[in-house]
Amino acid sequence: MTTARSDRWQAEIDRRLSQGVELEFTLAQFAQAVEVAPGDTELQAFLDGLASAQAAVRRDAYRCPMAGCARLLPAGVANTFCPFCQADFQQQGVEPEVEPSYRLVGESSRDIRWVIVIHGMNSRAKWQEAFSWEIANRLSYSAPVLIYKYGWATIDVFARWLHVRLARRLGERMRIAIAEARKSRLPDRPDIIAHSFGTLLLARVLENPEFADLQFGRIITAASIVRPDYDWDRLIQQGRVEAVLNHVGAQDRAVPFAEYAIPGAGPGGAVGYLAKSTLNVRADGYGHSGFFVPENLGVAISRGGLWQGFLTRPLAHFRPAGAFVAEPHWRPAPLPARVCTRALACGLFWVLAPFSWLRRKIDP
Ligand SMILES: [Zn+2]
Repeated sequence: MTTARSDRWQAEIDRRLSQGVELEFTLAQFAQAVEVAPGDTELQAFLDGLASAQAAVRRDAYRCPMAGCARLLPAGVANTFCPFCQADFQQQGVEPEVEPSYRLVGESSRDIRWVIVIHGMNSRAKWQEAFSWEIANRLSYSAPVLIYKYGWATIDVFARWLHVRLARRLGERMRIAIAEARKSRLPDRPDIIAHSFGTLLLARVLENPEFADLQFGRIITAASIVRPDYDWDRLIQQGRVEAVLNHVGAQDRAVPFAEYAIPGAGPGGAVGYLAKSTLNVRADGYGHSGFFVPENLGVAISRGGLWQGFLTRPLAHFRPAGAFVAEPHWRPAPLPARVCTRALACGLFWVLAPFSWLRRKIDP
């Protein structure tokens, strides 16, 4: 067998496995895809080789032998009769033709079912409109998108008790959305895209026993301010969360400071997550909101884009560019430093609170 040919065939197998598509095929179908003659014996030997290496399962199909019909017979039916041309094979003195067929051992691609977007502090950002538009246009099927709004959160982020309140409201809203989805026969595990302060609220909901009934599909955190040592592994093992992609902006100037100002926050969106079952990916040119610049967002959710790939592909073969493993020795900043800066932030909170309250009344 010439290597050039088998290399091309292997490349086609790898493509199918990484995208989770066309995992099942007959010899003739695969031959057509790689542009060789339908009965190529080297190709059949190559595919049988995959089967004996347990990378594929050979499960033959049968074809009607009558000239002018030659259709694949339905699987699981006694092949004595063709349901298409009505030929009785025994009467005709013929046998159905064996069609070598294979199923690659791998996971199929998945659909994006529906998505909840939890934004950062800037609730009016233009990207929200762009996002709904892009996701409806770029994805070839339409997935309902719920953009969760918690109104203006400005200085609130400095006060832990306000986080608790905002997180509880988010959890309750997600529970309602999940119940509505169930009624509309959508799957009850939404995929999640969370940004900045939204990532911290999501983490709070996930660790609150009050919301232990909520289960999620795949989660994307962008510019995360969740602590790098957050226990995503446990959530994934428990089946609460299917998988996590942590999208980090290499030029993010806000995330490294989060732990000094926001209680319970950490630089997950700079350091990465330590949890082994998460996937950290660094985007070189991105700042704190780079993920939602229309051009970047368009690329991320287009076919072959990072977010679309993460939400649809089998993850066993998913190794996007920019993937990295977080530095395992991460420790939070020294407590005195965090206490001092947070005390300052808290003081600022009480000074500014009346103005924030006023702003809410005027500009809800
Ligand atoms: Zn037939």
